[in-house]
Amino acid sequence: MEFLLNTLTRQLKGKILLNEPLSKHTWLNVGGPAEILFIPKDLDDLKNFLNHKPDNVPFYIIGGGSNLLVRDGGIKGIVIKLDSPYFRQISLSKQTLICSAGVKNTSLKKFLIQNQIGGLEFLCSIPGTLGGSIKTNAGCFGQSISDVLESATVINAEGQIKTVSNKQFNFSYRSSNFPPDWIIISLTLKADHGDPNQIEQKLKEQMLYRKSNQPYNAKTAGSTFKNPQGQKAWQLIKLSGCENLTIGGAKLSEKHCNFMINTGNATANDLETLGNMIIERVKQKTGITLEWEIQRLGQKDEVSD
Ligand SMILES: Cc1cc2nc3c(=O)[nH]c(=O)nc-3n(C[C@H](O)[C@H](O)[C@H](O)COP(=O)(O)OP(=O)(O)OC[C@H]3O[C@@H](n4cnc5c(N)ncnc54)[C@H](O)[C@@H]3O)c2cc1C
Repeated sequence: MEFLLNTLTRQLKGKILLNEPLSKHTWLNVGGPAEILFIPKDLDDLKNFLNHKPDNVPFYIIGGGSNLLVRDGGIKGIVIKLDSPYFRQISLSKQTLICSAGVKNTSLKKFLIQNQIGGLEFLCSIPGTLGGSIKTNAGCFGQSISDVLESATVINAEGQIKTVSNKQFNFSYRSSNFPPDWIIISLTLKADHGDPNQIEQKLKEQMLYRKSNQPYNAKTAGSTFKNPQGQKAWQLIKLSGCENLTIGGAKLSEKHCNFMINTGNATANDLETLGNMIIERVKQKTGITLEWEIQRLGQKDEVSD
């Protein structure tokens, strides 16, 4: 890795961090280190990296880390994060909004009000980045990114750039057929005209709803499990008597029991074990198998096995 690090440092312009703790980059605040964390300066830098990266070194892309449970043993290989100003641009073109993948959903708010764009308010209350919203077809308040996405520009592992239409992602509830080696660079969203007062009002109402019904300012990664068809995951969790389960520093939110919380000293293993225990108990009680909505990645720490 040292050799690779030196080579990359010579060839690339962005930030390269060795053994970077991923707990610093995830909302759950857990996770071992990335062998290398690369923050490309711009698209050329990212392309250059993909063209020079040895085939035997895996790479992973992360966004705001709001949907991630990185295991305690960390991630072998290279983790890429589109966190430089180049990847945080927003522009308006005719009836569309063009956003770089690293744009934080929350930072859309001001732009929507100033430019009188309606229909995208729901995105602003989802933590994380626009790039991170595609894989799981993120959504809330009755809308998903698939309802407002026209196309996305992606770069693949070979450094080839292409534009992918909404249809090609084959979106469904919290899912898409997104290949693991694609990196979203930017998204084109529908931008309908909206009244700025109504936009502001909607944004306020949605934020208020979240603050009253979901954990706020907590170490969480959003919904732990997807809602099975015609069912609510939180109801199944309650019905199976799991809402008060705790493991180490991992527990379920008192406000919404489908949100797992790191109370402060949880390990990734605590959180994953709690999740798996819930899956087992819900299956025993109801016959339904809950599916993780949180993306889990990385290696288990040998000590915690
Ligand atoms: C308090 C809270 C509330 C939440 N509420 C909701 C909600 O209402 N609805 C909802 O859908 N989700 C919700 N979430 C989950 C999360 O915010 C969303 O899934 C969000 O879209 C993840 O974006 P991110 O940038 O943080 O991605 P990450 O968590 O970093 O990554 C998520 C996935 O996207 C991939 N990814 C990230 N960036 C890129 C990129 N540029 N190119 C390709 N792949 C990429 C990663 O590899 C990973 O597989 C919530 C989370 C929290 C903490």
